[in-house]
Amino acid sequence: MDQTREEFVSNVSHELKTPITSIRVLADSLMSMEEVPVELYREFMTDISDEIDRESKIIDDLLSLVKMDKAAAELNIAQVDINALVQQILKRLRPIAKKRNVELIYESIREVTADVDEVKLSLAINNLVENAVKYNIENGWVRVTLDADHKFFYIKVADSGIGIPEEYQEHIFERFYRVDKARSRETGGTGLGLSITRNVILMHHGAIRLSSKEGEGSTFTVRIPLNYIS
Ligand code: ADP
Repeated sequence: MDQTREEFVSNVSHELKTPITSIRVLADSLMSMEEVPVELYREFMTDISDEIDRESKIIDDLLSLVKMDKAAAELNIAQVDINALVQQILKRLRPIAKKRNVELIYESIREVTADVDEVKLSLAINNLVENAVKYNIENGWVRVTLDADHKFFYIKVADSGIGIPEEYQEHIFERFYRVDKARSRETGGTGLGLSITRNVILMHHGAIRLSSKEGEGSTFTVRIPLNYIS
């Protein structure tokens, strides 16, 4: 436990310092130059602004994680229309998918209502679909399928993306873990998304499974009980 915590704190410090260091370098180099052309100012300021966005994103994700660590008692359970929830998420992500020319497909096998924390579950599913878009290829696709039986509902997020090599698969739910740091950074990743997703699903007494092949795509399957029993 102690070692994990220490590692976590050291990761947090590192991740939070990285954007600050970039901001410092950018600001210092602007200040050390005399007669800076206005375009250069603009360019550096844009970079600074991007680094600030990144820092905010890390802080937001960390806060989500810390909140979730507190207690499952903080779950705000209500009957939720899961079809509507998934459709809402896809609607929000459509512009990002369009930018990367990725087709978003929704397949609802049946109507599902379940006892869930709507805000937290949205965040969890959003992370999966967003990753499926981010780690995809040009002209790729993402297929989200919703199904249920008498006990559980199932959300499957499949993509035609870059896939996850076998040796990394067991690690990707760890905090700050990224297969390709450069790509994750480029797409605004913090390495916290999947650990947030996993936490939320476990809080709902559910499970998440991954099957993936490098270069062929990934499929994340979420299974959550229809009725929440505390
Ligand atoms: P990030 O903020 O970097 O996206 P996540 O915790 O959401 O962090 O994911 C961890 C890592 O798992 C990512 O950096 C990426 O390498 C890998 N990953 C997650 N989802 C997918 C996917 N659908 N296809 C390929 N790789 C993925």
